[in-house]
Amino acid sequence: MKDNGFTKKIAIVGTGFVGMSFAYALLCEGICDELVLLDINREKAIGEAMDLNHGLAFAKTNMKIFAGEYTDCHDADMVVICAGVSQKPGEDRISLLKRNQAVFESIISPILSSGFQGIFLVATNPVDIMTRMVQHLSGFDSARVIGSGTTLDTARLRYLLGAYLSVDPKNVHAYVIGEHGDSEMVPWSQAIVGTKPIREVVAEHQAFSENDLQNIATEVRRAAYQIIEVKGATYYGIGLSLVRIVKAVFGGENSILTVSARLDTGNGIGNVYAGVPCILGRDGVREVLRLKLEEKEKEEFLQSCRKLKEVWEEIIL
Ligand code: NAD
Repeated sequence: MKDNGFTKKIAIVGTGFVGMSFAYALLCEGICDELVLLDINREKAIGEAMDLNHGLAFAKTNMKIFAGEYTDCHDADMVVICAGVSQKPGEDRISLLKRNQAVFESIISPILSSGFQGIFLVATNPVDIMTRMVQHLSGFDSARVIGSGTTLDTARLRYLLGAYLSVDPKNVHAYVIGEHGDSEMVPWSQAIVGTKPIREVVAEHQAFSENDLQNIATEVRRAAYQIIEVKGATYYGIGLSLVRIVKAVFGGENSILTVSARLDTGNGIGNVYAGVPCILGRDGVREVLRLKLEEKEKEEFLQSCRKLKEVWEEIIL
């Protein structure tokens, strides 16, 4: 990442619900100095830039915001991809994926031509596959290609566990790992409340049960479906999750977040992108943490990774 001490520049590709919720949160928190908006629908990007600029007078910090071209990515620190096409009625998942593959080819090629050397962050679904696609198309070191992964799912889990246990979610150290989707899982053996394993906390209090924990994990898995059913899309939570990831990188925080990162064989399966706790610093993924999972959890996690591997092979072959 360039470190001239002056400007932090982000380019967002895809100015839909997700891209603009992220952009708005960036503006409110004053995370960067320059924000470039890109969309195949250029008019939309222009309108969004105008709208955000009109809030600058009330923002924490100044920021240069404009609808740009791919050449504007050349000195960006991060390019965040939120662009994608949605499922047509009756369309199967693989066909949707192939259309999104074409979208990504049309995006990554001009970004590379711009001379971009920063970090890619991907939100487009299925996020683990699309992140792997960006690494595949760009040839960037995998440390510099990150997906939002299960960051949002982990936040949802902590929120629900905090409410259930009446504990600040910040003191709940529990993770959702694997695919950001139906096969994601919660390794309860790794979940800690304050200083205690969550299973001990649950065993010690009559009001709590293991069954409730399973129900919470199911609620997390179903959250996106529930929101989409009632309001059509989810965007605020992911917008804030993306800001959290960017802050960890820009601040060189070495924070642990469950982003989608490339696993090595030490995690049980190689060359797959999946949500796992990673240490995030100025150069992206500093380390993918290896978890000591129980046998049953390990099998569930590997099953999720195998699913991602199979989908990848279906679209790439
Ligand atoms: P949206 O339809 O509102 O926005 C998509 C944008 O992409 C549109 O503005 C469209 O014009 C643009 N676009 C399409 N093709 C393009 C191209 N070739 N080049 C540039 N721009 C292009 O959709 P949304 O609600 O913002 O969702 C965006 C993506 O984020 C979806 O894939 C969605 O599933 C995903 N999402 C991910 C998470 C997560 O946790 N990772 C959460 C919510 C949504």
